[in-house]
Amino acid sequence: MSRATENTDFDCAACGRHVPALTNGSYRNHCPHCLSSVHVDVRPGDRASHCHGIMRAVAVDYHPKKGFQLVHECQGCGHRQKNKVAEHCRVPDDRDLILALQARNTPWG
Ligand SMILES: [Zn+2]
Ligand SMILES: [Zn+2]
Repeated sequence: MSRATENTDFDCAACGRHVPALTNGSYRNHCPHCLSSVHVDVRPGDRASHCHGIMRAVAVDYHPKKGFQLVHECQGCGHRQKNKVAEHCRVPDDRDLILALQARNTPWG
């Protein structure tokens, strides 16, 4: 089985922790420890942005087909992008952080 070149380990630009590649076949673009990402894409996966600002998770969205998605907002330019929550893998996204984000964005929170 060959490993996709984009799906490699990296060190998080926001919290500095090591982020292992996803093992469930998806492409990981954010940190499971602090949920932050880096603004490198104009469209998901294209690496066409030169901003390179830190993108922080600001909300959680639920899509009936795609499941839970994090809403990332760039601290550099304000660009917003949705990313699938990483689950069922070696290092899944921090569930407590996701729940806290979700609670902040519901009328019941
Ligand atoms: Zn991080
Ligand atoms: Zn940006």
